[in-house]
Amino acid sequence: MSEFDVIVVGAGPAGSSAAIKLASEKMNVLLVDRADPPGSKNISGGVLWGNDLEKIVPNWNKMAPVERYITSKGVGFLTKDSSIDVNIKSRKFLQGVTGYSVLRVKFDQFLAKRAESAGAMLVSGVTVENLAFKDGKVIGVVQEGDTITADTVILAEGANPRVAIDSGARRPIADQDVAIGIKEVVKLPEATINERFGLTSKEGFAGEYALGFLEDGVEAGGFLYTNRESISLGVVINMGHLRADDKTYSFDIMDQFTDHPSIASLIENGKLSEYSAHLVVEGGYNSFPKQYGNGYMIVGDAAGLSFSNGLMIQGMNYAIASGILAAETAIEAKKSSDFSEKSLSRYKEKLMESFVAKDAYNFKGIEEVTWGKLAHKIMPSLMEDVLVNMFLTDGTPKKHLTELIRKAMKENNVKSSDLLMEGYKMIRRM
Ligand SMILES: Cc1cc2nc3c(=O)[nH]c(=O)nc-3n(C[C@H](O)[C@H](O)[C@H](O)COP(=O)(O)OP(=O)(O)OC[C@H]3O[C@@H](n4cnc5c(N)ncnc54)[C@H](O)[C@@H]3O)c2cc1C
Repeated sequence: MSEFDVIVVGAGPAGSSAAIKLASEKMNVLLVDRADPPGSKNISGGVLWGNDLEKIVPNWNKMAPVERYITSKGVGFLTKDSSIDVNIKSRKFLQGVTGYSVLRVKFDQFLAKRAESAGAMLVSGVTVENLAFKDGKVIGVVQEGDTITADTVILAEGANPRVAIDSGARRPIADQDVAIGIKEVVKLPEATINERFGLTSKEGFAGEYALGFLEDGVEAGGFLYTNRESISLGVVINMGHLRADDKTYSFDIMDQFTDHPSIASLIENGKLSEYSAHLVVEGGYNSFPKQYGNGYMIVGDAAGLSFSNGLMIQGMNYAIASGILAAETAIEAKKSSDFSEKSLSRYKEKLMESFVAKDAYNFKGIEEVTWGKLAHKIMPSLMEDVLVNMFLTDGTPKKHLTELIRKAMKENNVKSSDLLMEGYKMIRRM
């Protein structure tokens, strides 16, 4: 007989959600995280979109250490000299569910403690080394040479899933599966943040940015989210570009973003309190690995489950949802005492029926748009040329919009047929 019904490796949103669900259903669960406390090595932008936690922690948003509720959403196109921003602030956001800004060190501890109080055994500061196998089936995990046994192992190790890869449970990560995220947290008084973004203390702003000022060929997007008394901001950089060009450094791109006049003014007089880097899962549907096998399931970032379309980065909600679905599958497997690959394939079916896989499937190829030249380079530059020339008054006769657009396209070396094709591709994929 196994020591545990389920061992969950990793107490991020995916692992802790799985453990909360399992423990709430009286399963004997071990939740292990290499960090002490859990969350202290984790990074998100981070806005937790959606309301999936409600299924396992009713009224979670009243108890969890969330920072602000997102009532204002922006997309900015930055060039060397300009910033063209499209912002929506709506009272309608108060009627539906958008997202909450969170700081992971606090938020992940909250979730891990919820798992513990539901009955899971939480072990922090311990790194799982490998999966333990017997007759081709996973029977537990290995840590410092000891095997701890379980009927099912849920791997929730995040974007760099060493245990899953080293044990052959998932294929290695390819360059196109991930990007590099750099993040700063800048402290500012609450009143200053409210004034700069036009917010009250509970309202929050989330902005995404196309960085058109970067050198040609370097593709990265920026983000900036308000917390109660700090601002989280950073860049997500295409891994392929970093590899291809040994003169491009991620920290330089981050500096260029924070030094941009329209970003620098938002964090002016702030105190840098955190600087970190982490992989961001980006591959989409085509990069999904196999997410289950004999005795194990893979959830969250480790299973390639995240979504980014240039307007938002989402991973925590997919992590939570997939953790809950894997937990449900483990509970069903326990009832039938069948932990085989066939039994756990129910997890894949549940994923496919849920928004987790449907979003990835419906937005297949979105990464070509988010990393495409149109969004990153051409649009910021075209918009700048058209809008600046529309408002500059130099004593010469005014020009029609069509004329301004034609001139901007010529100066940016863009053909209308290419713009139409790329624009159509972008709208269809988004
Ligand atoms: C810069 C950046 C910005 C982002 N912005 C957003 C955002 O705004 N909104 C959003 O929803 N998502 C965002 N994401 C994505 C989001 O952070 C992830 O999708 C999410 O954290 C995935 O959760 P997870 O539980 O699968 O993995 P993680 O949160 O990475 O948790 C994995 C856990 O496993 C532990 N672990 C790893 N290996 C072992 C081991 N061998 N033994 C024991 N423990 C182990 C780690 O310590 C960690 O606690 C962002 C990511 C980055 C990097």
